Amino acid sequence: MKRIMSRFGMIVALVLFVSTAAYAGQENNVTVTFLGQSAFKLTSDTKTIYIDPWITGNPVCPIRLEDIDEADLILVTHDHFDHLGDTIAISQATGATVVAVYETAAKLLANNLPADHVLNFGFGRDIGGPIDIDGLTLIMTPAVHSSESGVPVGYIVKFANGPTIYHAGDTAIFSDMQLWGRLYPIDLALLPIGGGFTMDARQAAQSLNLLRPATVIPMHYGTFPMLAPNADEFVALAAKKAPDVSVRVLMPGESYVAQQSDCVQ
Ligand SMILES: [Zn+2]
Repeated sequence: MKRIMSRFGMIVALVLFVSTAAYAGQENNVTVTFLGQSAFKLTSDTKTIYIDPWITGNPVCPIRLEDIDEADLILVTHDHFDHLGDTIAISQATGATVVAVYETAAKLLANNLPADHVLNFGFGRDIGGPIDIDGLTLIMTPAVHSSESGVPVGYIVKFANGPTIYHAGDTAIFSDMQLWGRLYPIDLALLPIGGGFTMDARQAAQSLNLLRPATVIPMHYGTFPMLAPNADEFVALAAKKAPDVSVRVLMPGESYVAQQSDCVQ
């Protein structure tokens, strides 16, 4: 009996130890919801973030602008209509802080977005070192594309005790992707694959070998007639070129829970 009791005690102690350890290193998982084109909603325990929120006029977006009543941050990659989208309206409705490059920030101010709705009191940011926002680390990266104001960018978003997510914006493939992926190991990459204005399936599949993310979600396809209608070719090429990378194709409205993972480094 004594032996059974001591074994029971050991099991209780072990369970307590494991659950305490799990709590101490509690993971901040992030729900990533695809809204069509390059629009995503990222929801963590503490933050709701929209990236390139093109809601109004987006032919595949599953939500309406009126459905958005909560947002902390809006990340804008560049000012083309299908990326800037409803940034100003969402920020005005929710009080969300907008992150954009300096010149695009100035354009938002000229369109009546108050300076205290734009990061750094209207100054925005630029490509380079990280900025910390309440436990969130943001890095603006280059993108090979165009923009009416400033330059186009991508974002690396590092959640505290959570995943690192890269949104490439609109871009062609470029070899520095390798450097960014090495500096900030990427758990989840959101990559354009539609061609014409951005990487096509072939370039995007090859870019996986530069970025080396654990998981990729394709974007920027299936909206305009001049873009790839679906992700089938990308899925096939990614399986050949980068079989270690997990490919998740989301229909607009679907979500994926991103976690900190052992990145393919
Ligand atoms: Zn664009």
